[in-house]
Amino acid sequence: MHDIIGVGFGPSNIALAIAIEEHNSSVSAGAALRAVFLERQARFGWHRGMLIDGATMQVSFLKDLVTLRNPSSSFSFLSYLHSRNRLVDFINHKTMFPLRAEFHAYLEWAAGRLSDVVEYGAEVVDLRPVVHNGEIAYIDVISRHGGSSEEIVRRARNVVVAAGLEPRLPDGIQIDERTWHNHELLHRLGQLPAMPRGRFVVLGAGQSAAEVTEHLHTRFPQAEVYSIFARYGFSPADNSGFVNQIFDPVAVDEFYHAPDSVRAMLIGYHRGTNYSAVDMDLIDELYRRTYQEKVQGIRRLHFLRASRVESFERLPDGVRLNIRALSTGEIHVLDTDTVVLATGYHARDPRRVLGGLADSCLTQDDGRLQVRRDYSVETIPGTTANVYVPGASEYAHGISSSLLSNISVRAGEILASIRGRQEMEAPLAGAPAGPEAADALTPQAPPRS
Ligand SMILES: Cc1cc2nc3c(=O)[nH]c(=O)nc-3n(C[C@H](O)[C@H](O)[C@H](O)COP(=O)(O)OP(=O)(O)OC[C@H]3O[C@@H](n4cnc5c(N)ncnc54)[C@H](O)[C@@H]3O)c2cc1C
Repeated sequence: MHDIIGVGFGPSNIALAIAIEEHNSSVSAGAALRAVFLERQARFGWHRGMLIDGATMQVSFLKDLVTLRNPSSSFSFLSYLHSRNRLVDFINHKTMFPLRAEFHAYLEWAAGRLSDVVEYGAEVVDLRPVVHNGEIAYIDVISRHGGSSEEIVRRARNVVVAAGLEPRLPDGIQIDERTWHNHELLHRLGQLPAMPRGRFVVLGAGQSAAEVTEHLHTRFPQAEVYSIFARYGFSPADNSGFVNQIFDPVAVDEFYHAPDSVRAMLIGYHRGTNYSAVDMDLIDELYRRTYQEKVQGIRRLHFLRASRVESFERLPDGVRLNIRALSTGEIHVLDTDTVVLATGYHARDPRRVLGGLADSCLTQDDGRLQVRRDYSVETIPGTTANVYVPGASEYAHGISSSLLSNISVRAGEILASIRGRQEMEAPLAGAPAGPEAADALTPQAPPRS
């Protein structure tokens, strides 16, 4: 029996685990919350495939796991720097945007301090409602460990599904050793097949596409790199002060309570903060390189703008692309050794994890989950167990939903919500307690598929 089970141990749920730990250390042992987090990776990792040399964070280090919620927390980025004896060096560096690799090390350090509440190699495959006194009072969380088919069942009052992002791929694409998504970049580059043409193609116009283009051009000094996108050029990410306010904690309130049409309008206006938008320094660097090649007369870096790949054909030693120039309609054939699909990410649909609980969760007309302001899912009457889905509700909570900007405050809000409900409901009238209690409760029959 747990008060809280977290699915996934990325930044979202690490921030929650810290909030719980800080709460527990401020109350008596009896009032402490019992929490466990299940993470399917074998060890902590945050976008490991994109820990490119020199890549920097796109959010201020002050928007770390804790600072906006509790500036005096020992889990801050500054505490991490202090523990590594780098605080003064970082200050002299005069940047708000640390290296991505350094932020990864910070997250790993925080995760390492929470090792007693996380289990790695544990993939959650199903959530099942458990009925007690006619109400869905608990949730059974089913996980598989280390690739085994054996299932482990844990029971909780509250489940927090923070399953993060997954790659967005072009329809019908076949992933193999020559065509893959950029989230695998560093792993794939470590085991490249033969490159008879010495040519890479990168599809996409966002930050990842620009980073991959720059990285390949640097790391393979003999290779040609083709960057192909439908835009006319890379657009800069807007991180100006007024626009950045869209990531403030208070913006979540305004967004959540706005009419649907206003939410759609705001997301439309401010897509350029996060989607298909590139850091200005990186745009300048790519432009500098392509201009330098023009001057030198040796072209390795090519930009096919206003272009779309219409088809991918696998060759024995590469891939043939049919590329349409959108302005003329002409088709151009390009053979390449490797295609990197820097085609973006989208939030992993939490309904895939909900499994047997899905029938108890309410959805909007468009099929998406009805999510309350506190990130819990609206459920059928007679449900007192709660499932929270932070990171998967941009449509309800705004553009910061899948980002780091707000995770510390959000973790505090989720914890406050769980504690508030427990205070209202606890003790569950007549609820059995102790290990034998689990047997007294009835897992609900799995839903019809
Ligand atoms: C390359 C890259 C760089 C980024 N940089 C920034 C940035 O600079 N600033 C910013 O604000 N945002 C950035 N983002 C956005 C990103 O979404 C957030 O940084 C962050 O990862 C969100 O944290 P999360 O915990 O919600 O999701 P994730 O970090 O994706 O973590 C989710 C975890 O859940 C686990 N999981 C999923 N399903 C299961 C399951 N069924 N059972 C068990 N475990 C499961 C996954 O293995 C993963 O570890 C970046 C994204 C990418 C791809």
